[in-house]
Amino acid sequence: MNRTLSAFAVCGLLLTALCGCRNNIDISDNTAFTRDLFAMDTFMSVRAYGKNASAALNSSEKLISSLEKELSVTLPESDISRINSSGEPVRVSGNTAAIIDAAVRYGSLTDGALDITLYPVLRAWGFTTGEYRIPDSHELSELLEKVDYRQIQSEDSTVSVPENVMIDLGALAKGYTSDAVAQIMREKGVSSGLINLGGNVQTVGTKPDGSLWRVAVRNPYSPDTDMCVVEIADKAVITSGTYERYFTGEDGKNYWHILDPSTGCPADNGVVSATIIGESGIMCDALSTALFVAGTEKAVSYWQSGNEDFDMILVTNDRRMICTDGISDAFSSSCSMPVEVIHRA
Ligand code: ADP
Ligand code: MG
Repeated sequence: MNRTLSAFAVCGLLLTALCGCRNNIDISDNTAFTRDLFAMDTFMSVRAYGKNASAALNSSEKLISSLEKELSVTLPESDISRINSSGEPVRVSGNTAAIIDAAVRYGSLTDGALDITLYPVLRAWGFTTGEYRIPDSHELSELLEKVDYRQIQSEDSTVSVPENVMIDLGALAKGYTSDAVAQIMREKGVSSGLINLGGNVQTVGTKPDGSLWRVAVRNPYSPDTDMCVVEIADKAVITSGTYERYFTGEDGKNYWHILDPSTGCPADNGVVSATIIGESGIMCDALSTALFVAGTEKAVSYWQSGNEDFDMILVTNDRRMICTDGISDAFSSSCSMPVEVIHRA
């Protein structure tokens, strides 16, 4: 009898404990929730901590999928596909208009190093399909006649481009997306979050214990290893590198997916990877591509001009790291490349 009673008592306690857990889930600020997804041709992982995390992740996932539907260059109903095929002014979403306007602005700030009208040239190289080939110079110069971001007309969320001009937002869409996810997390009350869109990282607040996030940056000369770690809070760390997408031609040379709009060929101006660190994801993404294309000297003078608030780590084709002074204290190298810290005049 006693035994039966105590068995009931144990069961009762267990049930109470289980019900207690179900009805009043104890989520501390340190409890991590992670959502892995594939969108925008990229593996993404979004992590948030604390009691608001789960709802924030649901909203983030919805947001990413709706942004993809607006921004994709391959989905036929997207804003971008409609702009590329219509020949008429196209009414677009506020998101699409904001990215296009930012892209045009960064195009002009970087003297055309960022040019979202490169799409026909990217297609000719096969970077959009994976059917890689090396276009000849005649084909490239014909295609380049249509490349110029200044031909984009954008006003009041209505965008038009001349016939045969096509745009693609691959250079900055992920940065815009990570900004939008970070904003949703903050709105939902998340104070600690980590957004990783295919290696492009954006952070919300600090780690739950109040310490800085440690973000590793890959070594472009050995992409399976890290070259350094940067410690940040509330910032994005976004890298463009030769190793991210490339093919080896029959001539044995590597051809990568970031093109120089002045030649139509993979940009080869001294930078093999450009990492930009700053508060705005879209700025970091736009500048990672643009300063990679611009090359070492122009990238350094762009940063020194102080137009915008960001830090950068460049890796040069003679195996040096150039690091701006704002990040040098929060940076630890894990490779053998020499590091040069640069300052504003
Ligand atoms: P990733 O998307 O691999 O992280 P980037 O942010 O540098 O790297 O974006 C590269 C993409 O941007 C390319 O795949 C292509 O779609 C597009 N692109 C390539 N060169 C340029 C350029 N000079 N200006 C604008 N877009 C570019
Ligand atoms: Mg970019």
